[in-house]
Order: sequence, then structure tokens, then C-alpha cells
Amino acid sequence: MTEKKRVGFIGLGLMGSRMARNILKAGFPLTVWNRTREKMKPLLEAGAEGADSPREVAERSDVVIDIVTDSPDVEEVLLGPQGVIHGARPGLIVIDMSTISPIVTRRIAEKLAEKGVRMLDAPVSGGIIGAEKGTLSIMVGGDYETFKECLPIFEAMGKTITYCGGHGMGQMVKAVNQILVSMTMLAVAEALMFASKAGLDLETTLKAVSGGAAGSWQLTNNGARLLRGDLEPGFKVEHLLKDLRIIMEVAREINMPLPGTALAYQLYRSLMAEGLGEKGTQAVIKVYEKLAGAPLLRGEE
Ligand code: NAP
Repeated sequence: MTEKKRVGFIGLGLMGSRMARNILKAGFPLTVWNRTREKMKPLLEAGAEGADSPREVAERSDVVIDIVTDSPDVEEVLLGPQGVIHGARPGLIVIDMSTISPIVTRRIAEKLAEKGVRMLDAPVSGGIIGAEKGTLSIMVGGDYETFKECLPIFEAMGKTITYCGGHGMGQMVKAVNQILVSMTMLAVAEALMFASKAGLDLETTLKAVSGGAAGSWQLTNNGARLLRGDLEPGFKVEHLLKDLRIIMEVAREINMPLPGTALAYQLYRSLMAEGLGEKGTQAVIKVYEKLAGAPLLRGEE
């Protein structure tokens, strides 16, 4: 049997903490680093090794995964003064699983290639539930041979693993995913608010429509959260806005109007203005409650 690759993991937030745990469960030797060090503790207790910097993670790994917030954060952990590039040797593979700009991805891939480091962009979908269960959808861009080499690592974290093309193409497919996610979440909030105003029982309504042609991940998961009055993330509003900003930049470059996504962007922006950026995307119900002049859950009237 071939020996398992030594995996390094950078960014133990809502997603990364759960994904790293699945890497460990699949039997890969794991080294972790997180900016806020206390978040490393549960992983260290589960058997991972801790490092003092992304550079040190690279020194101890064959494959380094990172999942942080935005493009500048990925640049910092990969190319910054204590970044992966300074601990890298030729042959190292870097897998960026954050959702960032495809244009920045290509720039980083070029910089890493100068040092003989191979990079895959591999953003994910499926939320913290998918991260926890190891059932994420993973959209991969980069060199195909490198993708195949990393497949056992992807399989520890995800179920639908798709090779999408060269550098940045994983991020492009993720943009498609986020166009769908942002508008579907709006539809869920709008429909549930309509049901509430019409005096329908919300549990019964959700059950009735979830199994039909209107069924979706957003309806099943975030619809149920709304019925519990739960606005905690999941997926933060500020992160969706980051994704929509990236999508709008790409859309401008390829001359593609996105009227529905533009509406979603403006409505989610109003949540930021209200200080709700750290809530889950289902918090868009707050916009509809204002428009409707009533709360979703009638017990709160
Ligand atoms: P999160 O809980 O806010 O975690 C962000 C992580 O990035 C934390 O570990 C944070 O470190 C680290 N980080 C941010 N900026 C950094 C920097 N400059 N240097 C070093 N570390 C930095 O976010 P998340 O929900 O896990 O999301 C992470 C990525 O996955 C985002 O790109 C997001 O769009 C994407 N994503 C999220 C979901 C979801 O449902 N949550 C689904 C699909 C994709 P600290 O702990 O020190 O803050």
C-alpha cells in the first residue's frame, strides 16, 4: 500500500475545523495552523500536530490545504512573510478551498509555480452540515494529474468531486453555485413570508412543498432554520456578499448582465447596513419582515 500523504491544514473556521477533522478521520497525518490559536485545540486533542505559522505547515506537509475568508487572506497565508511559499519545496501541492476571485487564484498559482509548487483551486458547497458529514461538493481547477493525485484527500471531505478545468475554473463554477444559492435563498424567504401573511401553518407548508418541484437544499435546511427562529451561521451574510462582489467583477469582464443576482446583492447589502453581516444568509427574512410589516413567526407579534 502506498503511504498516505502528509496533509497540512490552514484555517480552522466554521468550515475548516470540520473538514480538517474528516482528513484526520481518514487516516492522513495532519498538521494544523489557525490565526486564532485556541481554535487549534480540539484538533490537537483529536491527534493533529500544531504548527506556529503557515510556513511551518508547508515544511511538514506534502499537501497544504487552506480555507480562509477572502482573496487577500489567501494571499497572506500563501505568499505573506510567514506564508506557505517560504516553507515550500518543489513538488509541494497547495489546495485553496476558500471561495475567492478566479483572477487572484491564477495570479497565486503563477507565483507558486515559480517555486515548483503546484496549486489547485477547490472551493466547496454544502455548508457546515456538508463539511461535518464529509459530503461537500468540491469544484476543482488546476492541472488534471495533480487533481487525480489529490482525489483520496478530496474524498475524505466531499461526495461530489468535479474537475472543472485549468486554474480558476473551480472558482468559476463556484460563482455559478453562488448565483443559484443567493437567489434560491431569496425565494425561500419570500415564499415563507407570503405563507405567514396568508395565515398558513408554516411547518405544514414547508413539508408540503419540500418534496415537490420547488424542493431545494436552501428550503430544507435554511427554511427549517427560519421556522425555528434561528439566524445563526451556517454561511455568513458577509461571506455571501464577498462572493456576489466577485461574481459581479467577473460578470463585468465577460460582459454578462446578472439582474437577479444584482437584486440579491442589494437586499443582502441592506442586512450589512443593519449590522447583521455575521448572521446566516437566512437572515434575509429580516428584509421581508420589514417589507411585509410583520414577523415571520406569528407568536412574536
Ligand atoms: P469563518 O468561520 O469566518 O472562518 C474563516 C477562517 O479564516 C478562520 O479560521 C480565520 O482565522 C481565517 N482567516 C481569515 N482571514 C485570515 C488571515 N488574513 N490570515 C489567517 N487566517 C485568516 O468562515 P467559514 O464559514 O469557515 O468560510 C471560510 C471560506 O469558505 C470562505 O471563503 C467562505 O466563503 C467559504 N465557504 C463557506 C461555507 C459555509 O457554509 N460556511 C460554505 C462554502 C464555502 P481566525 O479564526 O483567526 O479568525
